[in-house]
Amino acid sequence: MDFALSEEQEAIFDMARAFGAEHIAPNARAWENEGTIPKALWPKVAELGLGGVYVSEDYGGSGLSRLDATLVFEALAMSCPAVGSFLSIHNMCGGMIDKFGSDETKEKWLPDLCTMEKVFSYCLTEPGSGSDAAALRTRADKTDSGYRLNGTKAFISGGGYSDAYVVMVRTGDDGPKGISTVVVEDGTKGLSFGAEEDKMGWRAQPTAQVQFDDCDIPADNLIGEEGRGFVYAMAGLDGGRLNIAASALGGAQAALDATLAYMGERKAFGRSIDQFQALQFRLADMEVKLQSARTFLRQAAWKLDNKSPDASKFCAMAKLYVTDRAFEVANDCLQLHGGYGYLADYGIEKIVRDLRVHQILEGTNEIMRLIVSRQMLEARG
Ligand SMILES: Cc1cc2nc3c(=O)[nH]c(=O)nc-3n(C[C@H](O)[C@H](O)[C@H](O)COP(=O)(O)OP(=O)(O)OC[C@H]3O[C@@H](n4cnc5c(N)ncnc54)[C@H](O)[C@@H]3O)c2cc1C
Repeated sequence: MDFALSEEQEAIFDMARAFGAEHIAPNARAWENEGTIPKALWPKVAELGLGGVYVSEDYGGSGLSRLDATLVFEALAMSCPAVGSFLSIHNMCGGMIDKFGSDETKEKWLPDLCTMEKVFSYCLTEPGSGSDAAALRTRADKTDSGYRLNGTKAFISGGGYSDAYVVMVRTGDDGPKGISTVVVEDGTKGLSFGAEEDKMGWRAQPTAQVQFDDCDIPADNLIGEEGRGFVYAMAGLDGGRLNIAASALGGAQAALDATLAYMGERKAFGRSIDQFQALQFRLADMEVKLQSARTFLRQAAWKLDNKSPDASKFCAMAKLYVTDRAFEVANDCLQLHGGYGYLADYGIEKIVRDLRVHQILEGTNEIMRLIVSRQMLEARG
């Protein structure tokens, strides 16, 4: 057993950290106010190979492991969890197409996905089905040339912003086996978007409903096989959950680093506040939370990379554990900043707002508990 990162992995983390510090952090607050991320950022991201992190090199990707990806997203989130997480969703789409698409499908979508000429969104949630995703109702009926889509997707990160949408649709009967995965390109007739949602956090990235009204797409926009879409969507989420956890970890680490520095400067009762043992113990508790979260996250990623039979359970456990600890730490960091933590200039309140949604999306933390306990009960027999 070796807990150390390789030299290459250290370099991946440092590269993503440096990129974020130069290109994302100085703009994060402005992008949050503007409610969008300039598209000019993405070619620069792609130049570093982060447009198709785990897409194979044959199609222009970086062919990195899931563990490597957690390093990328932890590092990027230290500059802005909202921007890093948005990129993680694009990469989740790339991973699904790479893993399940035919050679023709991969050739069709992956080169532009990897260069980020096309930014991708992931569309599973609907107004009437969130946690119970297999109850989705957006239909894709067969036509002579492909499929005709009707229905609405809710809460889509990049809705109205992205260039292509990976959409889970119903091509068959009720239940998970009636679901397929298709790609819908921006500009397709019958594709439209709801108003931008006004959110607590992740404000830099636009979120909107995605609507399909007699939206015709060609047959070769199907990913993999009909009826396997729910399996693909869940497989995408295994890795997606690791990245959502990694982003939460990066945000919380940035808050803790800032807090450690602040506590050495801020004075109360004649000394710097880092001299109060009660607060030193809080620092220690936060350090333990983030280090244990990081170890657990990397173990889950390692299991996914090694196709361990319990990988999905570990991804769910890591998502639950890491995002809960990360939010607690960020919130504690705000407390340790006193009133200044509540001011936007100090950067902590944004991290708290951004990290809250990591406990909700890509499966709520209640659903993570459901996945874990279900597998425990199954194993017991
Ligand atoms: C900012 C943001 C961005 C998002 N981006 C995307 C995206 O890009 N693509 C996408 O497809 N979706 C996206 N989502 C949707 C997100 O994944 C869903 O909101 C989430 O899965 C929960 O679904 P819901 O909101 O319908 O809650 P519900 O399913 O209605 O749940 C309500 C509450 O009930 C609990 N609950 C439900 N069922 C159970 C159960 N069986 N046992 C115990 N508790 C239960 C839930 O945990 C929750 O606390 C995004 C959401 C947000 C807020």
